[in-house]
Amino acid sequence: MEMSYQSMKIAHQAREAEDLRTTMRRKSLLILIYQHLLGQGYMEAAAALDQETNGDARKFEVCDNIDLEMVLMEYESYHYVKFQKNPKLIRRTVEPVENRFVKSGGVKRSPCSAGKRLPKINPSQTPQSGNVAKKTTTSVSTHQNGSSVPPEISDFGLNVSSLRCGPAGDAAGDIAMNRKERLLKPLSGFSGMNREMSDLAEIISRDIYLHSPNVRWEDIIGLEDAKRLVKEAVVYPIKYPELFTGILSPWKGLLLYGPPGTGKTLLAKAVATECKTTFFNISASSIVSKWRGDSEKLVRVLFLLARYHAPSTIFLDELESVMGQRGASTGGEHESSSRMKTELLVQMDGLVRSEELVFVLAASNLPWDLDHAVLRRLEKRILVGLPSSAARQAMTSHWLPPLTSTRGVELRTELDYEILAKDMEGYSGSDIRLVCKEAAMRPVRKIFDVLEAHQHEDAPLPAIKLETVTTADFLEVIAHSKPSARNLTGRYTAWEREYESL
Ligand code: ADP
Repeated sequence: MEMSYQSMKIAHQAREAEDLRTTMRRKSLLILIYQHLLGQGYMEAAAALDQETNGDARKFEVCDNIDLEMVLMEYESYHYVKFQKNPKLIRRTVEPVENRFVKSGGVKRSPCSAGKRLPKINPSQTPQSGNVAKKTTTSVSTHQNGSSVPPEISDFGLNVSSLRCGPAGDAAGDIAMNRKERLLKPLSGFSGMNREMSDLAEIISRDIYLHSPNVRWEDIIGLEDAKRLVKEAVVYPIKYPELFTGILSPWKGLLLYGPPGTGKTLLAKAVATECKTTFFNISASSIVSKWRGDSEKLVRVLFLLARYHAPSTIFLDELESVMGQRGASTGGEHESSSRMKTELLVQMDGLVRSEELVFVLAASNLPWDLDHAVLRRLEKRILVGLPSSAARQAMTSHWLPPLTSTRGVELRTELDYEILAKDMEGYSGSDIRLVCKEAAMRPVRKIFDVLEAHQHEDAPLPAIKLETVTTADFLEVIAHSKPSARNLTGRYTAWEREYESL
């Protein structure tokens, strides 16, 4: 009797100890998840978890040498040693996870807007009056507080802007903005590569910048069709994934082609600003020049990184400089360049087969020089043409409005925008900007002499009053300028027709 009481007591103590261990294990797991979320930049999810644990998550810290990824890696090696294969950690759900969570009363939060519930829309509603329009406006304001920093071109021609910020005004978003360097996933989780490749990934990642290029759709004048198509191809599939399945599965590659200076890069920057994807801004010619020999590996690592940071957009500027027709002009080409092209094609094929949200956005001024194999992979092609007369008017009045005032210096204009637009037929957006700049420079030039003369005198500078820029002044500047792509326009439309029929 005595004996059995003793053993019952021991069993009870063992149960209590086990219960305590279970509680501790569960608590540790929550803390590990919390730290993991913080480390990955999922501030909103981390804050929610902390709230649900009544602030417990914040009261503890994970001990040195341990993190969630490491725990999983250890499990993987244990599994491999035991069964000679890696464990399957996750599998596709039969029933959407969201439903299961709702049923079990759980809360599911997503780190980015992907998977956001669709609003109910009456098909007869116009986009302006419907919920969709409102949603879009909200998302536009998301990055309003992001500062504008010019993209820095790295030694490797690789810039990556990650735009996974929380909503403006939202506390978690604010934390995220203050801890921008934590927004991208750490490379420690970027496994499956040999030493050389992971070194390349490190190098590429050093050029990752987290600022938005700050170009909004409304900053792009005209190009309404191009804007709509780009949104359909890149922005909406990430925002409304439910709509883009089956036959509507998202495009994997899009080519923006047209004369230089018409806004192709601006469109890409708008995607980077308005869309919450990791944005890889790749100047194609730099890949070739700086990475001759190694560029094939660079391409492989680039796509691996894009997958790792998905949803991602890879913007390949000046595509013709890397994907010109193979062996075209020289009758043979550098072997490493050919290997790189093949790698790019292989990687793009990989995207088509996968369901990952990695998207290639390419731009070219010379589409007819492009390799046919790459053209086939850029399923959607959009002509970004010269601005229409209305767009030319809008551009001129945007850059030279009747009154501008910078640092107390006023510049006035009296311009007949319609006449000027007529005279600038065939000018690209960038040509028009240059003409406007030159026209604005004329009155400024006239005061330089006065300013210089005053440098040697003690008297204060006279009040600066610039002469008004008139239509006649502007027309004179136009007469001395030349549109850069007027002769090419026919060629783009001919090429467009040729490719439409394919
Ligand atoms: P590209 O088509 O060669 O990529 P960009 O997008 O780099 O041309 O445009 C060059 C510059 O010309 C821009 O920075 C901008 O100042 C001006 N620009 C060209 N097109 C437009 C446009 N549609 N709206 C506003 N600015 C434009």
